[in-house]
Amino acid sequence: MIEDLNVTSMVKKSRDTTARAPSRSILDAGFYELRRQLTYKANDRGHRVVAIDRFYPSSKKCSHCGETKAKLALRDRVFECSNCGARLNRDVNAARNIHREGVRLLGKETLTVAGH
Ligand SMILES: [Zn+2]
Repeated sequence: MIEDLNVTSMVKKSRDTTARAPSRSILDAGFYELRRQLTYKANDRGHRVVAIDRFYPSSKKCSHCGETKAKLALRDRVFECSNCGARLNRDVNAARNIHREGVRLLGKETLTVAGH
């Protein structure tokens, strides 16, 4: 499962305008190539790559109870749930949500195919 990231808009939000700031087009090309390679290699081995909608709140949603935060700053590296008290690494939390959403989408697809 991968998140269908809009790298261009992510970088646009950055306030770093120095020469060290990576070019948006280079980042977009890098992500496109990563996705292309991943899809190619997965298909080659009989697997599938499922892309999660870029608007799915993978970072803001608690992977433990499902509560979704209104805001989560990029500098907040630890996800803390105000509902259930879960506290975990931001990226681990997002990865669990992306995995769960991918499994859900695959299940929906199977049901649709079975329904025909
Ligand atoms: Zn929670």
